[in-house]
Amino acid sequence: MRFADIPAHENVKAHLRELVDSNRLPHALLLEGPAGIGKFALARALSQYIHCENRIDGDSCGKCPSCKQHASFNQPDTVYSFPILKSESSTAISDDLFPEFKEFLTENKFMDFDNWLKLLNNPNGQPLIYVAESMNIIRKFSVTSYATRFKVLLMWLPERMQPECANKMLKMIEEPMADSILIFVSNTPQEILPTIYSRMQRVKVRPLSEPELETYLIQECSVAPEQAPGMAHLAQGSFLNIEKQLSARNDADKFLEYFITLMRQAYQRKIGLLRKWSVDVAGLGREGSMRFLAYCERMMRENFITNLRIPGLVYLNQDEETFSRKFSPFINERNVERLLNEFESARLDISANGNAKIIFFDLAVKVILLLKQ
Ligand SMILES: [Zn+2]
Repeated sequence: MRFADIPAHENVKAHLRELVDSNRLPHALLLEGPAGIGKFALARALSQYIHCENRIDGDSCGKCPSCKQHASFNQPDTVYSFPILKSESSTAISDDLFPEFKEFLTENKFMDFDNWLKLLNNPNGQPLIYVAESMNIIRKFSVTSYATRFKVLLMWLPERMQPECANKMLKMIEEPMADSILIFVSNTPQEILPTIYSRMQRVKVRPLSEPELETYLIQECSVAPEQAPGMAHLAQGSFLNIEKQLSARNDADKFLEYFITLMRQAYQRKIGLLRKWSVDVAGLGREGSMRFLAYCERMMRENFITNLRIPGLVYLNQDEETFSRKFSPFINERNVERLLNEFESARLDISANGNAKIIFFDLAVKVILLLKQ
């Protein structure tokens, strides 16, 4: 991760760069600010900048051996620490889940905590940083750095350290080892042990302004200029919220396409094509399948209301509306309730881990029968 890979935050980047260039890096640095604005990305870029063998224009080069190691998360002087869920078989250290965390970092530049919980297979979990982790960090830091001068810790969410762990880390901050840099990244700094917090050199990272988010949307996400202000406003200063809006929009396009295919092929009774459709839709995965079925239920209701000719109550986007003009007469008082029931029961079957291909094919066959009524 280079500073250039992170949009906006020019003041913070300049400050971090200056700390390195003037050799004034503190032993304990905290990047604090709301979730989803790029703090951990900044911490990663800083760590790569510290280790880069060939810094250029105030950024790491991205090409030297050290930068390449950073890109693949195996730079030997960088220690990643993050909250995990303790299982009976694990030693309760971040290393146990490093493969998952690498996957998370690759897919989540803006650190979507909900996605981390999904990767931990527990959407309601409360991951922590356990005392075993602090022991592991101390052990790693007592080995002399051999690849570069500085050993760097990147700890995500220090507010999730258990008290015992926090006290061990406090000791490490009070009696720093030579050439060690501890970088902490916090969404809720008020929850960090005050004795630790007061010893950190703190850098506030601010939410993005609406103009900054608009620039990001237009330049990096290819969003049409006329749509950018509305999306930027809804994002409330966070890149992560932008990503969520974009992925919901992608979903909607893909879901509409699947919905139209289902209805056309069911109307024409194309069993072979519907079998292929079931396989394609099952490829959305469990979560995606459930969201798709919820989308279909919404489309049924909207088309039924369109059919009743109550326009003020219809909430469809332009593409959906175009399809509905011809399709809505097929959703009527004779079949709407049974169709909705079939989609709902498919959704429940998927949530109970049923075989998605079979469930979707079964659903398609029922749609064939119900559309004729
Ligand atoms: Zn480099």
